[in-house]
Amino acid sequence: MKKETNNNIALNFNTDWKYAPAPESTDHIKLKKKYDLFINGKFVAPVKGKYFETTNPATEGKIADIAEGTKEDVDIAVKAARNAYENVWSKMPAKERAKYIYRIARMIQERAREFSVIESMDGGKAIRESRDVDVPLAASHFFYYAGWADKLEYAFPGKKPKPLGVAGQIIPWNFPMLMAAWKIAPALATGNTVVLKPAETTPLTALKLAEIFQEAGLPDGVVNIVTGAAATGAAIVNHPGIDKVAFTGSTDVGKIIQKALAGTNKKYTLELGGKAANIIFEDAPIDQAVEGIVNGIFFNQGHVCCAGSRLFVQEGVADMVIRKLKDRMETLIVGDPLDKNTDIGAINSKEQLKKIESLVQIGINEGGDYYQTSCSIPSKGYWFRPTIFSGVSQSSRIVQEEIFGPVLAIQTFRTTDEVVEKANNTAYGLSAGVWTDKGSKIFKVTSQLRAGVIWANTYNKFDPTSPFGGYKESGVGREGGLHGLSPYLKMN
Ligand code: NAP
Ligand code: MG
Repeated sequence: MKKETNNNIALNFNTDWKYAPAPESTDHIKLKKKYDLFINGKFVAPVKGKYFETTNPATEGKIADIAEGTKEDVDIAVKAARNAYENVWSKMPAKERAKYIYRIARMIQERAREFSVIESMDGGKAIRESRDVDVPLAASHFFYYAGWADKLEYAFPGKKPKPLGVAGQIIPWNFPMLMAAWKIAPALATGNTVVLKPAETTPLTALKLAEIFQEAGLPDGVVNIVTGAAATGAAIVNHPGIDKVAFTGSTDVGKIIQKALAGTNKKYTLELGGKAANIIFEDAPIDQAVEGIVNGIFFNQGHVCCAGSRLFVQEGVADMVIRKLKDRMETLIVGDPLDKNTDIGAINSKEQLKKIESLVQIGINEGGDYYQTSCSIPSKGYWFRPTIFSGVSQSSRIVQEEIFGPVLAIQTFRTTDEVVEKANNTAYGLSAGVWTDKGSKIFKVTSQLRAGVIWANTYNKFDPTSPFGGYKESGVGREGGLHGLSPYLKMN
């Protein structure tokens, strides 16, 4: 192992040069000290009366107490959802359902600034991302699915699509608001009702969304938010009154859920982990590709299931790409998520930081050459500097395992066949990226890569009209687009 230094920094960048702080204001944020469960249109105390804290990972300070939902609370929520399904939501004309979904979308837009700040406070992501990516995309998912609500028979010609009933939905901490939108919008558009559990470390935007549901006049029980940790999620999965489970999270938990659902009539979709290959050919536009690498792995602290965490560079340009990448990495600002200049915010939790640190140590012990930026980081909070490993082999753990942090493993290749074989040599198959000047090469390579989403000459771009989902251990089923409707429907 050798720790490298970047000799180009002095030539190209004056690292002493700093932006003036540009913090986003928090004056307009209305947060309660304590949040109850949102069941049947009201905030209600949990049956067992237990609460846990949600903290700000950038300051380690407590933000609010959050109700810990138990089996009993899940049971009440599922019954409320069933009642709302049978008596209100499934009987309502589809175009009326659509009006509620449009209203929710517009209210998210109106309160976008508040949601962005809360998302960054609770989860640690840079405000630029919550403001420009998470919240606008959450609103656009509601807009998009509102449009489908009264057109389902056109989406599935010759069939008579019918809702399933009550959907149990469990989401992770990396895109809390966006994942809630991915789950709730298609479920409502197809006439289902919902019991949703946000992640333990990032429950606030889902609870603020519950306030929007109240203000929008969404009928009681149509969406219920039950906060808690793993046991709360398991109670939703195993509840006999649930007709469909939609889970986004780790492959390990996805496997537990798949086992629990085997032999039941519950439908399910699983959106799981990834270890995407980002492939740079010699004829690629190199400066754009370097931006794509940075966006692919350092965006959202690398807390992205489809992060381009394995970089494959064609040999002839490898030295240049790595040099330019290091230069660019040195300009990345790690720090206060609420500062508009911040590129990389806080790691979501102490546990996640420890996981990243331990995998990086394994990478060092395995003999990879690693390079970490020299930027300053705040003394309090959870932070990790952008890090790359070069000279790693296919068998390295950091090449095979999902790190879910700002850590990139770099390998080189000579031929197209070689890189396709290496890129596909993983248990995952969520996403990939290809950078080349030749359209024919894009078609050839993308048709051979075993990944659900493949970007060409760009990376990490999302749109509600595009389906998203994985091959192999990256999951089962698709969310988004027209494909995202069918997991919530039965056809007869
Ligand atoms: P996780 O540990 O699997 O947790 C996901 C959710 O499941 C959380 O709400 C979690 O609760 C809950 N949960 C934990 N154990 C459970 C159980 N036994 N039964 C039911 N629910 C349970 O994943 P994470 O660490 O939050 O998220 C990171 C993972 O999500 C990564 O692997 C990433 O690749 C994946 N992800 C995939 C996609 C995709 O679309 N494919 C998108 C985003 C993230 P608590 O956390 O509250 O305890
Ligand atoms: Mg938090």
